[in-house]
Amino acid sequence: MLDNAFRLLKEINDHSYEAYIVGGFVRDYLLGIESNDIDICTNATPKDIREIFNDKCLPLEDYGSITVVIKGINYEITTYRKEIGYSDNRHPNEIKYINDLREDLLRRDFTINTICMDKDGNIIDYLDGKKDLGKRLIRTVGDSYTKFNEDALRILRAIRFATILNFNLDDDLKEAILKTKHLLKNISYTRKKSELDKIFNSPNFKKGIKTILDLGLDKELEISNLYKVLDSDVSSSIGIWSILNVSDKYPFNKNELDIIGDVNEVVALDNLNPSVLYKYGLYVNSVAGKIKKKDAKKIIEAYNNLIIKSRKEINVTSEEIMAILKKEPGEYLKDIYDDIEREILYNRLKNEKKSICEYIKNKYS
Ligand code: ATP
Ligand code: MG
Repeated sequence: MLDNAFRLLKEINDHSYEAYIVGGFVRDYLLGIESNDIDICTNATPKDIREIFNDKCLPLEDYGSITVVIKGINYEITTYRKEIGYSDNRHPNEIKYINDLREDLLRRDFTINTICMDKDGNIIDYLDGKKDLGKRLIRTVGDSYTKFNEDALRILRAIRFATILNFNLDDDLKEAILKTKHLLKNISYTRKKSELDKIFNSPNFKKGIKTILDLGLDKELEISNLYKVLDSDVSSSIGIWSILNVSDKYPFNKNELDIIGDVNEVVALDNLNPSVLYKYGLYVNSVAGKIKKKDAKKIIEAYNNLIIKSRKEINVTSEEIMAILKKEPGEYLKDIYDDIEREILYNRLKNEKKSICEYIKNKYS
């Protein structure tokens, strides 16, 4: 992956433009962490990049960033730029392409995200990013208050990086968060959710949540019960979102909504009850169990002890039921299945064809 990136930098250099790897990849590389995407900065314009890589470029352009795909890896190539005027605490009013790497680095968020690497693997570190990496410190490039005023999403990015990397927030940065946190209201829920997802998905999520609470961001984010997460045993982002219960505001996909809905139903029920385990399955029960601080082993054991785990395991077919009752197909079949399913689950009826057929004959014919 890095070799391909070097080749790509060389290709741009061969067309007499500058190009460096920048941002997350270099940061993570110096920390010995694997990255899955590479950001590249260059003084070539998007048009120049398209001419160099033509059909390897994705057609869509995001604020003048071009994605080049080589062997299934995305390289996001962004032209050096100056961002002018921020009116909505998120987007610059104007982007001006510039020729100077150092100036491009100044518009970036944190020093640890400004370290560059050239085509030979040399590190270029104009803004002392490596020093802050060594100190495990998240520090803004320039004045924190200005940076957060320009783009309030950076508040959550700071906490995200501190959480995932297990770094500390610089004191001035923390102070600036306290002064600008109200601006989070101006950031879209989609953006906020995507940062929160990254925080919640980290093994260090408790650190992130404590930081959010310490800085009083929970109120600005409209997640009033965040403290409850720390009182639970949850360890997954879906478990955290289930506790927070904010799907009226934050955007979730259908799958997430289904799980959150089910988990909240199960939280109110008895987790070790066979029909609850059977109906909602092991995953939802485990998440709900963690919210209630139930013994996870007991839930797994109870689930594994279920006599049947799905309707397919019931040892009678609808054809057989129809034959016993000498009836055409109809809604009654579902009622009978509901009945024998419950009887088998509670061990009142053996899951054997003979016993089931007898039960049906006695009760329904
Ligand atoms: P990762 O890819 O691991 O999430 P990253 O640091 O690469 O982290 P990206 O969102 O990929 O983050 O952005 C690439 C680089 O662009 C960042 O390292 C940073 O230099 C700059 N950047 C991204 N978002 C912002 C922002 N909101 N404000 C200022 N600079 C930003
Ligand atoms: Mg990146």
